[in-house]
Amino acid sequence: MTQQATGVSHGGSAPARRDGSAPTRVGIMGGTFDPIHHGHLVAASEVAHLFGLDEVVFVPTGHPWQKDLDKVTPSEDRYLMTVIATAENPQFRVDRIEIDRSGPTYTLDTLRQMRAAYGPDVELFFITGADALGAILSWHNVDELFDLAHFVGCNRPGHHLSDTGLPEGKVSLVEVPALAISSTECRERVRKGEPIWYLVPDGIVRYIHKTGLYLEP
Ligand code: NAP
Repeated sequence: MTQQATGVSHGGSAPARRDGSAPTRVGIMGGTFDPIHHGHLVAASEVAHLFGLDEVVFVPTGHPWQKDLDKVTPSEDRYLMTVIATAENPQFRVDRIEIDRSGPTYTLDTLRQMRAAYGPDVELFFITGADALGAILSWHNVDELFDLAHFVGCNRPGHHLSDTGLPEGKVSLVEVPALAISSTECRERVRKGEPIWYLVPDGIVRYIHKTGLYLEP
């Protein structure tokens, strides 16, 4: 089975598209996806539409060092849920680049690898939650980050990015009402025995029930 057929790829590779053409505008959707939900999927679809993206590559965070790692679901579960949730959309694929990279996960490393894989002519758009974006852009090497990609922060309506020192034209904010759904709420609902149908894709409901994820606080 080819990478193209599965919608899955390894280590920041850039597979050819179904029609054999090379993508010119690529979204990189970064998130812990614990679990992935319809808010994430709507956000990726909306950004792809607004920015004319050829494809969106979902990149589940490998080692989110800024979180309490004991409470983060194992990366293989988060990766598999991301594959299940995106499988039906030919414009979406999933990359293991951060899952397979050892050590703490830095977006800068991911974008360097993606840039190397896609080459200099492809426009990269790093998409994530607006709050998370603030954390990434407060780090060192911001200039290199901006050279590597355009940044798109997604949030529910009414949110404003607090850092006014961001360079003009390098960061966009997109309001996505579906982001009223949150991973935290999904986990909490599972723990309390409440339904998560229609907050997440059906396959994710089944995966969570089958594996017993999120039953413990
Ligand atoms: P987070 O802090 O858990 O999330 C902050 C907010 O953004 C939450 O409301 C979250 O909602 C939302 N969000 C997260 N990913 C999203 C996405 N792809 N689309 C729309 N909303 C999203 O963020 P995180 O998941 O740990 O990290 C997000 C990305 O930033 C990852 O790629 C991570 O590796 C990167 N990051 C990098 C650095 C760094 O390099 N220094 C530091 C922090 C984060 P949900 O909880 O519902 O997803």
